Amino acid sequence: MRSRQVVIAGAGVAGLTAALAFARKGLGVRVLERAAALEEVGAGLQLSPNATRILGRLGVLDLVRPSTVRPEAIVLRDAASLKELARVPLGASAELRWQSPYLVAHRADLQHALLAAARQNPLIEISTGATVTGATVDAQAVEVGVEHDGNAVSLEAEMLVAADGVWSHSRRLVGPHERSRFAGELAWRTTIAADGETGRSFTSLGSMQAVTTFLHRGFHMVAYPIRAGTAINLVAFTPGAAIAEQWSGETDADALKRASRGSAPALTALLDQAGPWTVWPLHTVDSARPWTASDRIVLIGDAAHAMTPFAAQGAAMAIEDAYTLADVVASARYAHGLSQWEAARKARIASVARRGRLNHMAWHASGPVALARNLFLGIKSADSLAADMDWLYGWTPPGWSEAEL
Ligand SMILES: Cc1cc2nc3c(=O)[nH]c(=O)nc-3n(C[C@H](O)[C@H](O)[C@H](O)COP(=O)(O)OP(=O)(O)OC[C@H]3O[C@@H](n4cnc5c(N)ncnc54)[C@H](O)[C@@H]3O)c2cc1C
Repeated sequence: MRSRQVVIAGAGVAGLTAALAFARKGLGVRVLERAAALEEVGAGLQLSPNATRILGRLGVLDLVRPSTVRPEAIVLRDAASLKELARVPLGASAELRWQSPYLVAHRADLQHALLAAARQNPLIEISTGATVTGATVDAQAVEVGVEHDGNAVSLEAEMLVAADGVWSHSRRLVGPHERSRFAGELAWRTTIAADGETGRSFTSLGSMQAVTTFLHRGFHMVAYPIRAGTAINLVAFTPGAAIAEQWSGETDADALKRASRGSAPALTALLDQAGPWTVWPLHTVDSARPWTASDRIVLIGDAAHAMTPFAAQGAAMAIEDAYTLADVVASARYAHGLSQWEAARKARIASVARRGRLNHMAWHASGPVALARNLFLGIKSADSLAADMDWLYGWTPPGWSEAEL
C-alpha cells in the first residue's frame, strides 16, 4: 500500500466525495474501506440542490442521474384522512429557483456513481478490507495505522480524513471518545416494485411524481420513487428500543402496525402488504464536539455530526463537508488552520439539525398542536413554502460566483 497525501477512512458518501474533491485539487488520495466489498446497503436518499450542485461540479451528477427521479413536489398528507396539507413545488421550478435539481435516489446508486468517478481518477486509490485502527501526529505528517487482510500496515500522509460513519472509531483521535446516542426512534425501510400489486395500491395513496410524507401522532412515513421510477422507497419512523448498529432484518412488524394505528385503512393495508422491513436505529453525534486535531486529522459526515433524517440532509451535509474541506485545504486559507472551516460547518449543521427537530415535532403532533399545524400549512402559499427552504437548498460553497452556478 503506497502512501498518499490524503488518507480517507471510509468509502461512504462522505469519504468518496472527499476523495473526488481532493483529487480535483490535484492531491493524491487513498481511500481505506473496512468492508471487504462495497455492498448495496441503506435506503433511498433525497438529494437536494445544495448536494446535487456539488455532485455536478465533481462529475458525479451525470453518472447518477439516469437512476434517479426528479419529483415534482414534496407533499405532506394527514395519515388518517389522507388529506393533502401542504405541497412544496420541486421539478423544473426547484431547478430554476435553487439552480440545481432536487432528485431522489437509492443510496447504492449514488455510491456506485461516486465509486465510478473515483475509479476513473488516477489520483485516487481505493482499498477495501482495510480498517483504520489509529493514527499518530507529528509536526510533519500523520501516521495512519491500518489492518489490511489481517496485516498491520502503517501509512504516512499529510492528512487523515475520518469519514467512518455514525459508529466512528476515529472520533477518539480528535477528542475524548464519546459514543453516538440512540435517538429513541427506529427507521423502517422497504422497497416495492412500482409495477407490482403493492406498487399499484400505493398510487391510491401517493404519487409516483412526489416525495409524500404521511403525518400521524408519534409516527410518519415517507414514500418516493427510486431506481428511475421502477421502485418505491418506503421509510417509516416509530419510537423503539436500540437494536443492532446496522440495518437489521430482525424486526417485529407488529411494532410498526401499533405505531400507525388510526391511520387510513389504505395506508395500514400498504404497511401490511409491503415488506420485508429492515430496521435502522437512529443515532446522533453531538456536533459541538471537536472535529479536528492538529490540522492533520479531520472528521466529516456522520462521524462528525450524525443527525436524525427528518430534514433528509445527512448525506447532503457529508457532501458539503467533503467539498468545502478540500477547498480550504488546497487554498491559501489553510494557512489560518481548519478552525474557520470547522466553525462555519458547525453553524450550518446546527441549523439543519434544528430544522430536522422542528419537522419531527410538527409531523408527529396530535390534538390542538396538529390542528394549529394544519391551519398554518393551509395558509402558506406554495411559493412561501419553497422560500422557507432557500437558506438550505440555495446554499453554495464559499467562493462560488453567480457565473459558476
Ligand atoms: C432512514 C434514513 C434515511 C435517510 N435519508 C436521507 C436523505 O433523504 N437525504 C440525505 O442527505 N441523508 C439521508 N440520510 C442520512 C445519510 O444516509 C447519512 O448521513 C450518510 O449516508 C452518511 O454518510 P457517511 O459517509 O458519513 O457514513 P457511512 O455511509 O456510514 O459510511 C461510513 C463508511 O466507513 C466505513 N468504515 C467504518 N469504520 C471504518 C474504519 N475504521 N476504517 C475504514 N472504513 C471504515 C464503513 O464501512 C462505511 O462504508 C438518511 C439516513 C437514514 C438512516
